Amino acid sequence: MLTILFIKNSEVIITMCGIIGYIGTKNAVSLVLSGLKKLEYRGYDSAGIATISNKLVVKKDVGKIDEVFSKIDVSNIKSNIAIGHTRWATHGKVTKENAHPHTDCKNEIAIVHNGIIENFKELKEELIKKGHVFKSETDSEVIAHLIEEEMKNKDFVNAFFECLKKLKGSYAIVAIYEKEKKMVAARKESPLVVGVANHGFFISSDVPSFIDETKKVIYLYDGDVVVINNGLKIYNNGVEVKREIDSVEWDAEQAKKGVFKHFMLKEITEQANVIKKAIAQDDDIIKEIVDSMKNAEGIYFVGCGTAYHACLEGSYIFSKVAKLHVNVCYAHEFPNYVHFLTPKSLVIAISQSGETADTLTAIRAAKEKGAKVISIVNVAGSTLVRESHKVLLQHAGPEICVLSTKSYTSQLAILVLLAYAFVDKLDEAKSKLKELIRYIYYLTSKNTQDYIKKLAEILKDSKDIYILGRGLQYPTALEAALKIKEVSYIHAEGFAGGELKHGNIALIEKGTPCIVFTSKDTESDIISNAQELKSRGAYVIGIGPKNNDVFDFFIKVREAEEANSICQIIPIQILAYQLAILRGLDPDKPRNLAKSVTVK
Ligand code: GLU
Repeated sequence: MLTILFIKNSEVIITMCGIIGYIGTKNAVSLVLSGLKKLEYRGYDSAGIATISNKLVVKKDVGKIDEVFSKIDVSNIKSNIAIGHTRWATHGKVTKENAHPHTDCKNEIAIVHNGIIENFKELKEELIKKGHVFKSETDSEVIAHLIEEEMKNKDFVNAFFECLKKLKGSYAIVAIYEKEKKMVAARKESPLVVGVANHGFFISSDVPSFIDETKKVIYLYDGDVVVINNGLKIYNNGVEVKREIDSVEWDAEQAKKGVFKHFMLKEITEQANVIKKAIAQDDDIIKEIVDSMKNAEGIYFVGCGTAYHACLEGSYIFSKVAKLHVNVCYAHEFPNYVHFLTPKSLVIAISQSGETADTLTAIRAAKEKGAKVISIVNVAGSTLVRESHKVLLQHAGPEICVLSTKSYTSQLAILVLLAYAFVDKLDEAKSKLKELIRYIYYLTSKNTQDYIKKLAEILKDSKDIYILGRGLQYPTALEAALKIKEVSYIHAEGFAGGELKHGNIALIEKGTPCIVFTSKDTESDIISNAQELKSRGAYVIGIGPKNNDVFDFFIKVREAEEANSICQIIPIQILAYQLAILRGLDPDKPRNLAKSVTVK
């Protein structure tokens, strides 16, 4: 999961949103609207659009995109330039006035912004002194007024450059000006990509917003400024730069829900294919990474949320298969833990999006110590890809649901490949994983879903769910708890089976649901834990290869050794999904969460 978090004066702020701009020969309003819809996973408290049709027109309101644009009809506006925004409020309440786009005093300049302008208070005060009148409580509105102020003696493009020099914080910005059919944009620590179509250009937070129109993309670098007039120019540090045009490997269909009601279910169902893609990794890259691991003095896996669980799982897999010790650390804790790093240290960062600010902060701290950084990332062209010495791309296709499902199992499969490759058994790992593909199809099938629905019916009104695992199933228990709480809002806690007697058992009452992951290696101890739970009245759910009298409900998942977690997490992903549905929640858009995270 990718969410953007900032800590400022010990206050945690989460920021996230989707922005899009289009300029070209097609109907900009409809392209921006359909693009916004595909960015809705990035923020959904309000939305808006600005376009130029003789005059600058801005339409915005509170609510999800469909709600907003059912109240405001923009379909009759014909224009070939427009910008749009779906907001995840950080500064200012969720109101119509605070929704983006924001404009200057004369309503000639419109901007959309993702991120936080840290010095907005100072800038706003200065601008107010100069006579500017503000209409919102947001930090973002200063951008429109700053451009207006600079335009007293500069043209629109130069005023934009000047405005950027004054901004502190993080941003992806797109701006338009009524009197010139130009679009300008900039990024600093917030994602922004350009879509190059044969009928025009898109600038957006993410590729799915324009994938129907073009697969050609330019991943912008931090500090890039884009000016689109008749053509496209990119500047960095005031100098024009050339950026490569990449081709997106997945197609428009993959970024759509298709027959599925939700992206979460679609992405759960895609896992067999995702494992296939993981197996098809380039052997040379795997071998290069393994060589780097062999040459390193101290290896550290870093990640956040689900990716952290993959890291932890990876350390167990490496211990067992490769007899290699790997340290694991939350990416947000890593900068506090780098004192002993040397140029011989190796940091392996795992992130679906490659934009997780925590993870970026961690690798930057490691690089400062001269350490080498390798990353395992799903999104090509992301900042993590660019800032790592070596990269292994997951090729799991776009993950749109806020919750990570397929990217997690893909990361696990890659870690299995690496661990086996470390002891020269890459082919053995490939055939092990290949054997599982059919089984994963079965695990994600309608049959399994129907069976797990019965469990979801039993658990849907639970207050708490406890989840236990030992060994390789310990990280699985953590990930299972995360999945359940993220999407169903039921409190769920995962812990190692051995911890039960050290405190957690105090929470077990008659009927408390407890999920227990079992495996060949851990069976005797974990079944004892299940008995201890049962003796306190718990409702015990077993997941593993062998049923036992102690289980009130059992989900059979065949033994897959180091790949156990890949298979065992799937029933829980389905359970989490079903719980959300039964509780009337939208699994693709859990409250307070968004798909991009920067934590400090
Ligand atoms: N800070 C801006 C606001 O609160 C942008 C937030 C976002 O990225 O959605 O409006």
